[in-house]
Amino acid sequence: MEALGYYFAAASGAAGLFMLTAAVVSLLAGGQRRAALKMIYLTVGYAVVWIALLQLVVTRLWPAGIALGLPILWALWLTARPRSLNPLSRLPSAEPFDRRDTVFSRMQLHPGTAEYRRYYARHPEKKGTDDCLREMPPVGSPESPAYRPESALLTRACFSAVAHIAKESAPTESTGSLPRPANAASVLKEVGRRAGAALVGIARLDRGDIYLQGHGEVDTDEEMAVVYAVPMDYQAVASAPGPRSMSESALGYLRAATVGRTLTSAIRQMGHSAHLHANNTYLAVLPPLAVRAGLGEIGRIGLLVTEGYGPRVRLGAVTTGLPLAPDRPVSFGLQEYCRRCGLCAAFCPGEAISRASGPRKHRGVKKWTVNPERCYEYWRKIGTDCGVCLKVCPYARPDDLLHRALRRAVRNRPAAARLAVKIDELLYRRRPEFRKDG
Ligand code: SF4
Ligand code: SF4
Repeated sequence: MEALGYYFAAASGAAGLFMLTAAVVSLLAGGQRRAALKMIYLTVGYAVVWIALLQLVVTRLWPAGIALGLPILWALWLTARPRSLNPLSRLPSAEPFDRRDTVFSRMQLHPGTAEYRRYYARHPEKKGTDDCLREMPPVGSPESPAYRPESALLTRACFSAVAHIAKESAPTESTGSLPRPANAASVLKEVGRRAGAALVGIARLDRGDIYLQGHGEVDTDEEMAVVYAVPMDYQAVASAPGPRSMSESALGYLRAATVGRTLTSAIRQMGHSAHLHANNTYLAVLPPLAVRAGLGEIGRIGLLVTEGYGPRVRLGAVTTGLPLAPDRPVSFGLQEYCRRCGLCAAFCPGEAISRASGPRKHRGVKKWTVNPERCYEYWRKIGTDCGVCLKVCPYARPDDLLHRALRRAVRNRPAAARLAVKIDELLYRRRPEFRKDG
């Protein structure tokens, strides 16, 4: 029994040292919150080990000791890794992108107009594909196969409301009526959350974030961006592809525009300029901004993936001249998870998502690419937006205890991604074969 006591003392001492080292490493890496958490684990771990030891000495109850020891080992394993930055944040800024090159903007060009002729004179390589797409029934039109009048009406009404909200936010009012609070960033985050956002962060605006066409439209003094994510309903997204998920997507844009409008107004009441970036009025590319604001990572799906809602979110941003403390990018092990998962690519009916084994450098950033023409062609074929990739992403599943535990394991130990992918596969019994291209 005496030997056993020494054994436990040595084990708990080693565990303590391990946690202390992990806490110092975290502190050096800038993760103060995680360091504090590790110290709490350390204290609780020690207490549990010593209670187990005491119980063993008094009652000689071996199973109690083992049962208490295993969770400690599990906690040690989960918390051993300091948080690293997302690869996207380590690379130089992206090259500015011309908004007129997006497939949605191109679909606004009407044959026979001067704009149409000018654009395809510059980009003859896109004309054949785009003309074929134009010949298909528009998404949500009565001629499309998935047409449902109520969903089509709701979708149109949402986008019309978004356009109205975005126009309302033209930088005319600047009341200057309220003093700027010292902690403006946390006040604005609270405003955003109470207006309906699930995640709000602050990022410094990079000139590479602004669409080429948007240069000159974003005030040069607007150096900061409040970036936010509004979740979409799980059940509605799970019905994709179809009219219900399409109208949920439109509702998401509307909720995002409302949050943005509220934030814009709050900032202007502090006497600073603010510009809302909502659907169809984006002057900046939001996913990289959202990454820098700490909202999530870019996954294989080519969209922002948040830890709690996956890609099942709509993004919005308000750029402003108000000085705000920026947040830090986060990493929760998504890159490793995406390498092993590939569900979005395997299920994508348009075969638009990269099956490459890892992200590649594209326009200055390292990421998996998505072919927008193939994706949009599928939308036109079925007559609604698609969203299958949003629905199948394991990070889009409900944020319940089990999924939180799996995500936590992957966050702290990317090596756990393989196990988490297997568990997801077991739970949801599915998957067409995922074949990587290279
Ligand atoms: S929306 Fe559909 S077609 Fe487009 S990338 Fe996602 S799964 Fe593929
Ligand atoms: S479905 Fe899998 S591979 Fe695709 S973004 Fe989600 S986690 Fe990554």
